[in-house]
Amino acid sequence: MRKKLVAANWKLNGSPEFVDSMMFELAKVKCDTVDCAVFPPFVFIPQVKSALPAGWQLGAQNVSLYEQGAFTGEVAADMVVACGGSLALVGHSERRSLFAETDAEVAKKVAVALKSGMDVVLCVGESLAERNSDETMAVIQRQLEAGFSLVSPEDVSRVCVAYEPVWAIGTGVTATPEQAQEVHHNIRALLRVLQPGAESAVRIIYGGSVKAANVSDLFVMPDIDGALVGGASLDAKEFSAICEAA
Ligand code: 13P
Repeated sequence: MRKKLVAANWKLNGSPEFVDSMMFELAKVKCDTVDCAVFPPFVFIPQVKSALPAGWQLGAQNVSLYEQGAFTGEVAADMVVACGGSLALVGHSERRSLFAETDAEVAKKVAVALKSGMDVVLCVGESLAERNSDETMAVIQRQLEAGFSLVSPEDVSRVCVAYEPVWAIGTGVTATPEQAQEVHHNIRALLRVLQPGAESAVRIIYGGSVKAANVSDLFVMPDIDGALVGGASLDAKEFSAICEAA
């Protein structure tokens, strides 16, 4: 049985005061049976680390594909690890679409994060136009194959896949539990082809307008192993309720 993972992606939000009050609230969450994680903006990683409840994971929303050197504005995976991070979010659709991150760059970022010792949450998902033209699984297959292309067989289970349909992110439109389950099921079939056994070892979490009111219906689906939460993770009560539903 895969343990569920519930992760907060704060995106470009927060302040030192926000971090203090959020961490105070998250310390009260009952999460013995679920893995919980926070992805704050880079600069807040040390502050989150200093208040991180026992058993929680801390991660970066992105890592540089470079390890060090003259790359102004970049943050290396090793630096995140040195500040207490253990998880890297890679290939989020906002990185792909707003910052033109390619499949090849995503592949390198996955590899560099794993090499640094972090586990990875690899995001995949189709746009509305792609869904409407029946390209959902073709897009996801391409993103998955690229994302795992530099991962050695023994590291495959250190990658968690986050299915985030682009049309459901920040829109208030969640994929129905059935829609999400169908894609998660198909992702498992692709993982099996990638490496026999990966289909049962790799967690597949869902993201896209997850909130306390819809999460229970998603979590009863057999192939949904958790949630990657954006907007609702900025509200301590909402996010605590999502963790406790897992
Ligand atoms: P929302 O929960 O705001 O839709 O964002 C989802 C997401 O992108 C998490 O990474």
